[in-house]
Amino acid sequence: MPSKRRAIVWFRQDLRLHDNEALVEALHVAYEVCPVYVFDERLFKGKTHYGLPKIGIHRVQFIIEAVNDLRRSLKRLGSDLIVRVGKPEEEVYQVAQQLRSSWIFCNRERTPEEVDVQDRLEKKLWSVGQELRYVRGKMLYHTGDLPFPIQHTPDTFTQFKKEVERYVSIRSPYEKPTRRFNFLTVDLELGEIPTLQDFGYLEKPNDRRASYHFEGGEREGLARLNAYLWDSESINSFKTTRDDILGDRISTKFSPWLAQGCLSPKQIYAELKSFEEKNGKSKSTYTLFLSLMYRDFLRFLVKKHGNCVFETGGLRRTEVIQLEDKWEAFERWMMGDTGHSFVDAIMNELNSTGYIHNRARQVAASYLVHDIGVNWQMGAEYFESMLIDYDVCSNWVNWNNVTGIGTDTKDYRPLNIENEVKKLDPNGEYRMIWGDNQANNGISPAVPGGIFSPSRQAEGSFE
Ligand code: FAD
Repeated sequence: MPSKRRAIVWFRQDLRLHDNEALVEALHVAYEVCPVYVFDERLFKGKTHYGLPKIGIHRVQFIIEAVNDLRRSLKRLGSDLIVRVGKPEEEVYQVAQQLRSSWIFCNRERTPEEVDVQDRLEKKLWSVGQELRYVRGKMLYHTGDLPFPIQHTPDTFTQFKKEVERYVSIRSPYEKPTRRFNFLTVDLELGEIPTLQDFGYLEKPNDRRASYHFEGGEREGLARLNAYLWDSESINSFKTTRDDILGDRISTKFSPWLAQGCLSPKQIYAELKSFEEKNGKSKSTYTLFLSLMYRDFLRFLVKKHGNCVFETGGLRRTEVIQLEDKWEAFERWMMGDTGHSFVDAIMNELNSTGYIHNRARQVAASYLVHDIGVNWQMGAEYFESMLIDYDVCSNWVNWNNVTGIGTDTKDYRPLNIENEVKKLDPNGEYRMIWGDNQANNGISPAVPGGIFSPSRQAEGSFE
């Protein structure tokens, strides 16, 4: 029986009720549980090192939808969501003071800006005798279950897979709470969920050419999981279709929900196992498992190597010869105006929807770095800004890899873009659809010269 004490659940990139350890733990120990979400103004209104919006329109919209969905789900359990805009270390701290809570539960983050925020909050809470309790939930594997300490994580995926797959089992996801729970007996302003306009954007982009229209939130994420596995059984052809670039069902499209934690990787894995039990294992189901494992691998690499993933020489700490901030070429690339029809089509799709396929990401990135010789960090920041599924580790390690400075890319050779066109768009269908850059107006945040705000390099620089 929980004591009559209060707990806060600080939702971060875990915008869901299923497999949410923070919520489960809080409900276990506390009498009243208060869920809180803070739109971090430094992200939603801030700029990257090169002066691009830290979160572009597509992701802002997706997160707003996800927070709305979370509030609706909590209301169905007799609860609600306290929403604030500001700095989490100040806003959560203030709520904690008002509630006189005993604990604040949250997902532990491992990347510099996120760690900085949680450290600051933790220190403030100590000063008033409250405790920040960390849980996990972003990954398939728990760090503590690995057969090696983080510092010994293998640098190649082949080796990682060999050491992990056979020996480490994946834990079951936590059940979604179904019983109503005590919310608040103190008077506290709930707070309104901001709109796109509050962050300076006009209206939700809706390009009819998009092969898939993403909507944020756990409900939509689980619906996609269900549709991809059970309704359409598209999973059966995943291995063969995942390298196509056009179509709703060619790949899972789970990434935006995974990035905001609307979908738990363990939940996907559990569904995949049920699917295999019913329909048998296949190369396709195994390939999806490996893709999720690869996502984890990138996280472990960043934990092991730290900030150098953002730095010029990348994870390999290589000397890079070609590192020029060529603004004009960069701008043309961003705006889909390079003169290379396939690259331009890819950038048009990215700007219009916030999503492009994995192969398209590789082509656009390789072209920027190897064909027009622009600093890879500029490209990585543009993806950070524009991607609806932006994820620190997945984005930056993949950019390291394309540039040839990742740990797993010793023999990396730049892509031959013409060969990629022949393979991916032999009939020009993709270029027909995305050749037009009309929808870029007002979306692409090209800011020549940039506003210098050293957001990543130094400890504690996230002001
Ligand atoms: P599927 O092919 O259906 O794969 C299923 C899941 O496996 C994905 O949702 C994803 O979680 C994981 N996955 C698959 N491939 C990769 C990969 N190469 N790296 C990491 N995870 C993978 N992915 C992001 O989630 N966020 C990013 O910010 C991001 N930036 C990228 C930048 C570059 C330059 C490149 C080349 C790739 C990037 N990726 C990123 C990886 C990959 O492109 C996307 O995960 C994938 O396209 C998402 O579509 P999907 O969900 O249909 O993937």
